Amino acid sequence: MIIQPKTRGFISLTAHPEGCANNVKEQMEFAAEHSIADAPKNVLLIGASTGYGLASRIALAFAGGANTIGVFFERPADGDKPASAGWYNSVAFKKFAEQKGLCAENINGDAFSSDIKEQAIALIKQKFGKIDCIVYSLASPKRIDPFSGEVFKSVLKPIGTSFTGKTVNVDREEVTEVTIEPAAADEVYATEKVMGGEDWELWIQALLGENLLENGTKTVAYSYVGPEITWPIYANGTIGAAKDDLMRARTAINFLMAGIGGRAAVSVNKAVVTQASAAIPVVPLYISILFKIMKEKGCHEGCIEQMVRLFRDHLYGISPMKSLDDEGRIRLDEFELSEDVQHAVLDIWPKISTENLNQLSDIKGYKQEFLKLFGFGLESVDYGKDVEI
Ligand code: NAD
Repeated sequence: MIIQPKTRGFISLTAHPEGCANNVKEQMEFAAEHSIADAPKNVLLIGASTGYGLASRIALAFAGGANTIGVFFERPADGDKPASAGWYNSVAFKKFAEQKGLCAENINGDAFSSDIKEQAIALIKQKFGKIDCIVYSLASPKRIDPFSGEVFKSVLKPIGTSFTGKTVNVDREEVTEVTIEPAAADEVYATEKVMGGEDWELWIQALLGENLLENGTKTVAYSYVGPEITWPIYANGTIGAAKDDLMRARTAINFLMAGIGGRAAVSVNKAVVTQASAAIPVVPLYISILFKIMKEKGCHEGCIEQMVRLFRDHLYGISPMKSLDDEGRIRLDEFELSEDVQHAVLDIWPKISTENLNQLSDIKGYKQEFLKLFGFGLESVDYGKDVEI
């Protein structure tokens, strides 16, 4: 069938299999030009089908030669409804990795559930023996607690006081002002339950309990800090509280893995266009300005550039875990937060409006990247051609 994009706010209801495969291929080709010394051999990635998790998988496989198990929650095709982008990405990744002689297994289901943890454990025992790296890259709107069955929904809200600031309606290219009321205490708690570190800990406990971790296993989860203009809604908001909980979990996991000489890390990554970041108020407008500045300064990076740097320069390679910030985190956001980049962003921020959006930001680039997440807008794809969904 012929597949066209069908965007609704910050999601696309359709995805293009060939476009998604080409996206994976492009990242794979970038990764293949790099090499991660002392890379892990067998990696479990939780949240492996899009964004930072997919780029981690591609970097570890094609720059590091790792075998991978990818866990994700994606929608297969149904009748004449195409599958989700992450589904097509994962099918393409498996094909390309196997062509390179690498083992690549996919598990589609709710990573928060005990059932999916058991499936992963069974697969590791059957195919890998043990694993030596776990990447935790989930971004989810909700979580069902595996013990109580309670459903927790994450919210993107400030804490304490309401927030009023600029945001963009990407479809209409309109800059508007948004006011978001502060989160209630139970919403802060729910966001921590979904996006915090509890499930990361549960995965490590489950794997350790089955003796499936090699000595010296490393595990990493991702965080974001960003500039002050985003703090009310990010760092100081509900999602920031969840990211603080990730730091608590890192300490707990380090304690759990001490016996096997394991190490847990939190990496602060830069802002990129993903399905998760598109849903955060204020952030798409900030990213559109940031991209314009970083492209002009020649320091623009996407997910794959970031993830190659993470595994090659920070987690593995010649001097692993050496350059950390005051809180012991890996920092990949040094270009984003550099003084000259932020100075230029702050110069634009108060001036930006619907009228000058195209001059003062890279909104077109943002939209292109957004469509690309779903396999659309690529020159290499003939969108008029029938494809098998
Ligand atoms: P994304 O939306 O691209 O990817 C989310 C992944 O989680 C997908 O693979 C999806 O299938 C999976 N997933 C969601 N719910 C699941 C469930 N219940 N079970 C199994 N899999 C599930 O998100 P992203 O932007 O790559 O975010 C990944 C991590 O990186 C998050 O912790 C996010 O906070 C962090 N981060 C993102 C940015 C950014 O700008 N996008 C910046 C810094 C840090």
